[in-house]
Amino acid sequence: MNAHDPNCLFCKIIAGQIPSKKVYEDQDLFAFHDIHPWAPVHFLLVPKLHIPSMAQLTPEHEHLMGKLMVLAPKLALELGCNPYPEGGFRVVCNTGAEGGQEVHHLHVHVMGGPRPWLRG
Ligand code: AMP
Ligand code: ZN
Repeated sequence: MNAHDPNCLFCKIIAGQIPSKKVYEDQDLFAFHDIHPWAPVHFLLVPKLHIPSMAQLTPEHEHLMGKLMVLAPKLALELGCNPYPEGGFRVVCNTGAEGGQEVHHLHVHVMGGPRPWLRG
């Protein structure tokens, strides 16, 4: 598994080769608005490292994934999700075909904002 896959859509977005509405970047993580939002707030949070899905996670990714999960609520609030408990957000990580995964670069969907939502 390479750190960057030249055929991967999200690797290209991270590299700036395909435009996105970026909301966050640091040395390990990248976040951008989903192009087809289901909710008033809907962004994708991804490791820069090309990991195809949660199925490939190993103990060496524990720190990275912990960092990603701790960042999600911070970005959710910054992007307009209302505070817990009346507000909140949903985190979804589709994994594999039966998990509904379409883009094979690990990503979590963070969705929130007032309902009704388009889906979910
Ligand atoms: P998944 O089904 O979990 O693999 O979700 C992939 C998500 O990526 C979908 O919600 C798409 O709307 C989103 N998506 C696909 N292409 C782009 C893009 N170029 N920029 C932003 N989001 C995208
Ligand atoms: Zn990738």
